[in-house]
Amino acid sequence: MSLFTPARRWQPPFYPFKREKFPGRLLAGTERVIKGPLFGCRMCGNCLLQETAFICPMECPKGIRNGPCGGSSAEHCYVDNTRKCIWYCIYERSFRMGREEKLLEVLPPVDWDKAGTETWADVVSQVRKTGTGKFIKGRFTLDRMRRMESWENVFRPVRQPVWWDGDSSFHPPVSAGPVSSLEMKLKSGEFVFTTEILPPLHSDTDRLRKNITIVRPHVTAVNFTDNSSAVPRMSGMACCKIAAEMGTEPVFQLTARDNNRYAFQSKVIGANAMGINNILCITGDSPVTGSAPEANMNVLDLDSVQMIWILRRMRDEKIWLDGREIKFPPKVFIGAAASPFASRPEFQAVREQKKVNAGAQFLQTNVVFESDGLEAWMEQLYKRNILDKVFILVGVTPIRSLKMALHLKHEVPGIVLSDQILKRIEKAGDSAQEEGIAISIEFIQKVRKMSGINGIHLMTLGCESSIERIIGETQTS
Ligand code: SF4
Repeated sequence: MSLFTPARRWQPPFYPFKREKFPGRLLAGTERVIKGPLFGCRMCGNCLLQETAFICPMECPKGIRNGPCGGSSAEHCYVDNTRKCIWYCIYERSFRMGREEKLLEVLPPVDWDKAGTETWADVVSQVRKTGTGKFIKGRFTLDRMRRMESWENVFRPVRQPVWWDGDSSFHPPVSAGPVSSLEMKLKSGEFVFTTEILPPLHSDTDRLRKNITIVRPHVTAVNFTDNSSAVPRMSGMACCKIAAEMGTEPVFQLTARDNNRYAFQSKVIGANAMGINNILCITGDSPVTGSAPEANMNVLDLDSVQMIWILRRMRDEKIWLDGREIKFPPKVFIGAAASPFASRPEFQAVREQKKVNAGAQFLQTNVVFESDGLEAWMEQLYKRNILDKVFILVGVTPIRSLKMALHLKHEVPGIVLSDQILKRIEKAGDSAQEEGIAISIEFIQKVRKMSGINGIHLMTLGCESSIERIIGETQTS
């Protein structure tokens, strides 16, 4: 994508909720007319262009400001296949321009009070604050560091408001103590198994309890998803509470899709008060992939990186996002999702590093079938020097049928499933489920030998009975 993209298709701009004074309206109108055609600007009021290689990220239908998502690819956006994945374009250009380290800065959510208003006046007032003469001198000095410093003095306060204050540094957890069995076992070096149970589609909990009873003896913790695939189900918090009462350690998944900044913080505190200490932050599937595609697909309030940033600050800095003190902060082990096969390994590694810097302590990957691709991704994590800062659990799904294999291969973004596996499942005919379990066992045996992998996250999609066999056979081999 060229630097300027006149006439490129972009989504409509935001307009201010409140009526601005005439000079503000004039400036905003001018900015909209100029930056819209040039950059695809949507007038978010908090410009990030310099961190995103001069491509506006607000074109992303998921509204991700710290992208890409787990479905990112070179071909197209998985929410709207008529447009390119804008985050793939941003990463590609950033790498080409040597600006990839800029992608690590944790960028703030939209300040909705400023959405639709201009950014230029903020820049001008910041130039005045730092001293116009000093800024101009700084721009023309031969010293590169001073040139960058003068630029940052003006633009950093514009893009990083004081209530957010994001950066690109690693923030180790303040307390070393484990807050859950999952954290304790991972820290002790144990290779762990976790799984996930889909919350019920109704209010009866018999099946849920039965499934928890089946998996409990074999895994360290059980994830409960947050309306996965954008289909409403029993709340993950209710399932976590039931699991905790049954003596099973839960991992509470929270999506940015279903939780704005208020809901997210309040749920974290509420869950923690109920003894839920593992929290996994994900952006979530777009509503267009779910049962109610007419739901808002335009903009989310937060993205997963922002959720992690908020959660870590709640725990370690004892503050709500609005800066109020939290007297009894949540004790949480923070998790994030990772997608080794989305876009390119070096792109995804930047994204995983950003999550780790923001505060993620464990990463659970999307479903993986190919160990070679996994190794390529691990190599990139190693180069980014994050393998000693985060625990990695690899996602494994036993295939149950040819139909399921074809669905995973062709419909689910971020998954690579080889023709060789497809042939094995096809050849197995009625025994496809058995073959799927055998494939999972072989894969886990390979993965256990890879350095840097700390466990397996089994996603059996309703076939909880296969867990005992898969774990049993991979532990004894
Ligand atoms: S980041 Fe915001 S202000 Fe900057 S170009 Fe995009 S929508 Fe416009």
